[in-house]
Amino acid sequence: MKASIPPTCRVIRNEPMSRHTSWRAGGCAAFYALPQTLEALQSLLHRIDKTEKIEWLGLGSNTLVRDGGFNGWIIATQHVMNDIHWLDNNRVYVGAGVADAKLARMCQQKGLTGAEFFAGIPGLIGGALAMNAGAWGSDTWSHVINVETMNRQGEIRQRQRDEFAVSYRHVGNRQGEWFIGATMQFDDNKNTVACDSNEVINIRQLLAQRADSQPTGMASCGSVFRNPDADYAARLIESCGLKGKRSGGAVVSEKHANFIINDHHASAGDIESLIETIQQTVQQQTGISLQTEVRIIGEQAK
Ligand SMILES: Cc1cc2nc3c(=O)[nH]c(=O)nc-3n(C[C@H](O)[C@H](O)[C@H](O)COP(=O)(O)OP(=O)(O)OC[C@H]3O[C@@H](n4cnc5c(N)ncnc54)[C@H](O)[C@@H]3O)c2cc1C
Repeated sequence: MKASIPPTCRVIRNEPMSRHTSWRAGGCAAFYALPQTLEALQSLLHRIDKTEKIEWLGLGSNTLVRDGGFNGWIIATQHVMNDIHWLDNNRVYVGAGVADAKLARMCQQKGLTGAEFFAGIPGLIGGALAMNAGAWGSDTWSHVINVETMNRQGEIRQRQRDEFAVSYRHVGNRQGEWFIGATMQFDDNKNTVACDSNEVINIRQLLAQRADSQPTGMASCGSVFRNPDADYAARLIESCGLKGKRSGGAVVSEKHANFIINDHHASAGDIESLIETIQQTVQQQTGISLQTEVRIIGEQAK
C-alpha cells in the first residue's frame, strides 16, 4: 500500500471469504475492500502497490478461495457501479455492480425480451461479463455491444465486443482490465406491454424449472464443470456413479450431478478434493477431461 486508503472505501483485514462466496467455504482475504464510489475504487487501485495481487469479486457465486487464504486484495463490487441507463434502440447501459436478476426484472418491466435468462443467475453483471454467464440457450455476450473497463491504474476505457475472445463461459483477451459496465441490447417484445403478465409467467416458469432440476437454496457455486463438447458434465458424472459421493462436508448433489453442495461445514479443501476425485473418475471411466467452470484462487492450507 503506497498511501492511506480513501475514506469512501472500507477495508477489512483477514476477512473470511466463506462470508462472501456462495459455497460458504474457504480461507481469508488478507485485505477485503468495499469501495462505495467509482472514485474510491479508482483511488484504491492507484494506491495498491504494483506487487500486490488483486481480484475483483461480485457475489462470489463462482469463486472458491482455498483454505490458506488469498494473500492480496479482494475488491467487492456490489456497492458500486450500480447504475442502469435506458438508451435508444432497446439498449441499456448496466453497471457491473447490478445484480443479474435485477436486470432481468427491469428489462421485463420495460417490455424488452432476451434478458430473462439472467433471472436465475445469482451473481452481478461484472461476474456475468467475466464468465460469459448464460442459461437456457442464451449468454451474456450475445447481448453486449461494448463495455467499459478499468485497468490497474484506475483508468477507464471503452472497448468493443470484438476486442475480446468470447466463447462458452470464457472471455479472453481482457488485457488485465476489469469490467465496470456494459451497453447491452435486447429485443423489443412488441406483444408485451410493460409488466405484461405473460412475461412475468415466463420468468417464473424458468425459475420453477431451475428449482425442479437444481438444488437451489443450498450452498453451491452452480455447475462446477464446463460441459464438454456435445455432452453434459452432469450426465457424465452421474453415469460414473458419483451422485452422493462425499469428501468431508462436501457432497455431489443427488438432484444435479454437476453441483457440489456444502452441506456440512465443508472446507475449500474438501470441495477441491471432491472436484479432483470427479475429474479422475470421469477421465478413467469415459476418457473425458472435465474442466472447472468455477474460479479457484488462493493458497492451500499449510
Ligand atoms: C445456484 C447457482 C446457479 C447458477 N447458475 C448459473 C447459470 O445458470 N449460468 C451460469 O453461467 N452461471 C451460473 N452460476 C454461476 C455464477 O452465478 C455465474 O458465473 C455468475 O455470473 C458469477 O457472478 P458473480 O458476481 O457471483 O461472480 P464472482 O464469483 O464474484 O466472480 C467470478 C469471476 O469473475 C470475476 N469478476 C467478478 N466481477 C468482475 C468484474 N467486474 N470485472 C472483471 N472480473 C470480474 C472474479 O474475479 C471471478 O474470477 C450459478 C451459481 C449458483 C450458486
